[in-house]
Amino acid sequence: MSRLNPVEVREVYEVHDIEGIRGVLARAQKEHLKVSIAGKRHSQGQQTAYRGGLVIDMTHFNKVLGLDQGTRTIRVQSGATWKEIQDYASPYGLAVEVQQASNIFTLGRECTRA
Ligand SMILES: Cc1cc2nc3c(=O)[nH]c(=O)nc-3n(C[C@H](O)[C@H](O)[C@H](O)COP(=O)(O)OP(=O)(O)OC[C@H]3O[C@@H](n4cnc5c(N)ncnc54)[C@H](O)[C@@H]3O)c2cc1C
Repeated sequence: MSRLNPVEVREVYEVHDIEGIRGVLARAQKEHLKVSIAGKRHSQGQQTAYRGGLVIDMTHFNKVLGLDQGTRTIRVQSGATWKEIQDYASPYGLAVEVQQASNIFTLGRECTRA
């Protein structure tokens, strides 16, 4: 289990949709605050949050937007984990071909390091 040194932030917002994200960004812009994004918070680098900033918690921004069985392509919101994707795809007889060693991390984080 990973443990980060605590960084004191102003507020953590759990977002569920684009409007929620826009709301946090609007506040940050108005109050000149920095914003960081949190997936499952397992990063080992300890660089994920700004002291005194706002945090957007993406873990409930995790809906499946569509699965195309023909192309075997799934569209998800970026807080979805590999496990959530696999759980959704399994009843269709589909499996994730490539992922990290653990399935508890979010896709959003994966995309940012590509
Ligand atoms: C036991 C263990 C094993 C690990 N093994 C590996 C490994 O083999 N290879 C490897 O590369 N890493 C490894 N890591 C590191 C881990 O893979 C990453 O920390 C993990 O992918 C983090 O996912 P997370 O959802 O917890 O992201 P977080 O820790 O929540 O975020 C990590 C970074 O991604 C950004 N981010 C997260 N979500 C989004 C989003 N939706 N949009 C934009 N930015 C976003 C954050 O701002 C932050 O900078 C390991 C970690 C652990 C605890």
